[in-house]
Amino acid sequence: MLRITKKVFNDLALWMIGLGLAMGVVFPFFVVLMGVSSEKALTPGFFAACMAAGFLVGAANIALARGVVGKRLRLLAQRMRVVENNLKQMADGVTDGCAAEDCYITIDSEDEIGESAMAFNQLVGALTVAHSSEGAVREFSRLLASRLELDTLAGDALRQLMDNSKAGAGALLVESEGLLEVAASHGLKDPESLDQSDHVRAAMRGGQRQLVRLPADLTVNGVLAEFRPQEVLVDPVRYKSVPIGALVLASGEPFGAEGLRNVELLRPALALALNNALAHERLQRLAALDPLTGVFNRRFGLGRLREEFSRAVRDGSPLGVVMFDLDHFKKVNDTYGHLVGDRVLVHLAKLARTVMREGDVLVRYGGEEFLAILPAAALSDSQLVAERLRRLLGESVVKDGQQEIRVTLSAGVASTPEHSVDNPEGLVGLADKALYAAKDAGRDRVRSA
Ligand code: GH3
Ligand code: MG
Ligand code: MG
Repeated sequence: MLRITKKVFNDLALWMIGLGLAMGVVFPFFVVLMGVSSEKALTPGFFAACMAAGFLVGAANIALARGVVGKRLRLLAQRMRVVENNLKQMADGVTDGCAAEDCYITIDSEDEIGESAMAFNQLVGALTVAHSSEGAVREFSRLLASRLELDTLAGDALRQLMDNSKAGAGALLVESEGLLEVAASHGLKDPESLDQSDHVRAAMRGGQRQLVRLPADLTVNGVLAEFRPQEVLVDPVRYKSVPIGALVLASGEPFGAEGLRNVELLRPALALALNNALAHERLQRLAALDPLTGVFNRRFGLGRLREEFSRAVRDGSPLGVVMFDLDHFKKVNDTYGHLVGDRVLVHLAKLARTVMREGDVLVRYGGEEFLAILPAAALSDSQLVAERLRRLLGESVVKDGQQEIRVTLSAGVASTPEHSVDNPEGLVGLADKALYAAKDAGRDRVRSA
């Protein structure tokens, strides 16, 4: 259509009225062709009447077009403004959606107008999904960014991932020193056995998502949720292409494209947060451990001693400590060198762990002086531990090529409440004194305070 003005409806009006007027001019000749006499038809009055009729039809047409098409276009424009406004508010966090009656258009036409309305509704739908996904990712990242402790982080992350995928059960596994450990789980019967799962291993190895569909009549052994899952999703969690864990989600219904996409969207934030938590944990462990022997260092060990002392006082339970020191260790260093001396220290720490119970704490107190903290151990129990270690060390050898190095230790033992002390330092002081008594008495022996 030839454009005359800058407004489509005005152009349309000009064309329609122009066409009406043209029809008014042509109509009298048409009437003559139909057999009406030209004296009657070709009169100024009839011409004027026909042109007036043509004008009126043109004007009526344009009014109709404005009423039918224009009304829908105005509605479209108005909804677009509402959506635009909503998008602005969503970005500012004032609102998180757009009510259907405000933002969607009723489709009541099967032609281009209906198509435009449908396309508009689809656009609004896509924008809403994109916004809610973006919001979920933002919320997830914000939540995880404030968590550095692995346990709380994993628990919170798993809950969010289950919510976003509508999973009924799940677990978050984290790789630690080559082993996959359960950092959090919910609703799974035996999460500890997940590291044996072929799907988990395949996901870790290949870095590929595994979606397992479980037919209703299939009996699955091993890992099963507290309900019958229809689908199990195993997603590897990688940070900078290094596998750091795996996410397992089980659902009673298929996850669907949306559920799978949501997990996919949240995964990068999970990987980043998990990596931070693992690094934090590693640093904490490094800060607490003696690098040579892997036992607690003095600073951290004394902290643990204070905790155990408070607990013993509170519960009225005994607390034993054993202070032990290698005999004539300087000689070992002088004879075989410092590196061999180091190996003797590692050997001693390893032996000490074998005589201690779970919950006992081994501390490298000084150079070749160790402190064993034994919660719930009375004096006799503590003496027994010290004596067993003394004997074990005396019977063992550390090899250096052909050389067999034998060392002995002296130990001092103290235990509360049998020894009355006011604070943990007092208890350690007593054990230290007993250790010196053992040295004075000829070494390679255990003495009690
Ligand atoms: P004693 O029977 O009286 O305990 O005699 P000792 O020779 O063991 O004497 P002392 O306990 O005073 O000696 C401590 C020695 O331990 C001195 C130091 O060279 C050695 N030492 C301390 N830390 C380390 C270490 O990390 N590695 C090695 N190889 N030696 C260490
Ligand atoms: Mg010594
Ligand atoms: Mg010493």
